Amino acid sequence: MSFFSTRGGACVTASQAVLWGLAGDGGLYVPSMYPQLSMDKISAFCQMSYQQVAERVLRSFLEDYAIAEIQESVQAAYGAPAFDDPAIAPLLRLDDNIHVLELFHGPTLAFKDIALKLLPYLVRLAAEKNEEKREISILVATSGDTGKAALEGFRDVPGTSCTVFYPVDGVSDLQKLQMTTTAGRNTRVIGVRGNFDDAQSGVKKLFADPAFRDRMDAMGRLPSSANSINFGRLVPQVAYYFTAYAAMVNRGALRMGQPLNFVVPTGNFGDILAGYYAMRMGLPVGRLICASNRNNVLSDFFTDGVYYTHRTFFQTMSPSMDILISSNLERLLYEIAERDGRIVKSWMELLKDCGSFSVGAQRLAVLQKTFAAGFADDTMTAAEIRRVFEHTGYLMDPHTAVGSHVLGEYRLHSGDHTPTVIVSTASPYKFARDVLVSLKGEAAAEGLDAFGCAARLSEVTQTPVPRQIEELKTLPVLHTAVCEKDGMEEALLEAFR
Ligand SMILES: *Cc1c(COP(=O)(O)O)cnc(C)c1O
Repeated sequence: MSFFSTRGGACVTASQAVLWGLAGDGGLYVPSMYPQLSMDKISAFCQMSYQQVAERVLRSFLEDYAIAEIQESVQAAYGAPAFDDPAIAPLLRLDDNIHVLELFHGPTLAFKDIALKLLPYLVRLAAEKNEEKREISILVATSGDTGKAALEGFRDVPGTSCTVFYPVDGVSDLQKLQMTTTAGRNTRVIGVRGNFDDAQSGVKKLFADPAFRDRMDAMGRLPSSANSINFGRLVPQVAYYFTAYAAMVNRGALRMGQPLNFVVPTGNFGDILAGYYAMRMGLPVGRLICASNRNNVLSDFFTDGVYYTHRTFFQTMSPSMDILISSNLERLLYEIAERDGRIVKSWMELLKDCGSFSVGAQRLAVLQKTFAAGFADDTMTAAEIRRVFEHTGYLMDPHTAVGSHVLGEYRLHSGDHTPTVIVSTASPYKFARDVLVSLKGEAAAEGLDAFGCAARLSEVTQTPVPRQIEELKTLPVLHTAVCEKDGMEEALLEAFR
């Protein structure tokens, strides 16, 4: 299987797509076709471990990786003690019809670990296969969770380095501490005075700048990406849509072949796109429900077909979804443009020049067959955290609560009560202050730091503080660099000195 660019150029192997991250024309790599998994094969997943399913999914896309290489990578990525649940992505029952897929059992307590524990292995193998001798210099823009997961994944991996740019005032206290306390000879963390979109555009601009590439080359470095624009980030995420389906069948909540809906808290559109890929491979998916916070550019897009970014950017209690330019949407646009890169290119040019584009009524109708969408602001999110905890005893993080709220609205308006999985993207303890305040009001968190909030949340809910949070308390802050949004290249070169 080869990989194309969403903007029409390129025809590369899987390992090249993983190694280079972004196509030379600024597009994203997409597979030339979707490998098909028959119902028999999907049934067989019911008897397999998470690792075995992940292997099957990866093998079907990554053709120039040997089966043994994929097996070893999967075993190394998902072994204990990195993940604190042997199921890797356990499925919990909320009621007969709604289940929660917990993707936060890795080292950084957010779903990004599932892809980023594996990606470094895929990148190293890709460098070998393509006889790349330069250091693979991973550059990451993060809205909070990718940064730490990438740092953990690439820390001390030979032949690589990892530099993270994060919005200096746009992440939670614990997210910031997680990043700035990272050890490792090859890790760098730089705060950007701006929001996530500024950081992401800055990194994308560097990738597209030949002069920057030359400067890196002169230092023996090849810039690459660990953001979900990298296909190697996306493909591990496809696996958990299959395991969730199999778990639903195994517990008798679904018959094999029956459709299952997923609601996905969405920012850069990577997670939900993985669900779309699973569907295109044959998984019986009813609807993919895209849940946004107050930065509701995507729910507007799925409602009227217009993507419009000239709007106010809000900081919310679900910061990993504070995004207006959702990179992976481009991969879906490529499909609804009948895989014609010229059309995608024209939309992306409009987006860059005018801040918006429209896909038209016919294409919107195609999208709406698969996707539904909605959003929740912070008040609705807090109310949902409280409601779910009071009704079921289940504690949700703000991102997951956005999803849960949107599911409620969707069911009310559509009458569609297909069995549904809420994709839970982070541990509530990563956002302990906001979760505590949602349950008990502002006064409960008064005078408490992030760790105090976690301890209080644990008392109030009778749930344990994850060890990943406890461990942070004693670690020294090692990274303090901050730069202006126009100064990212200088800050990076400075950090390499
Ligand atoms: C990254 C992230 C999201 C958004 O995922 P995308 O793939 O960017 O859409 C949602 N929730 C949490 C907790 C995240 O870290």
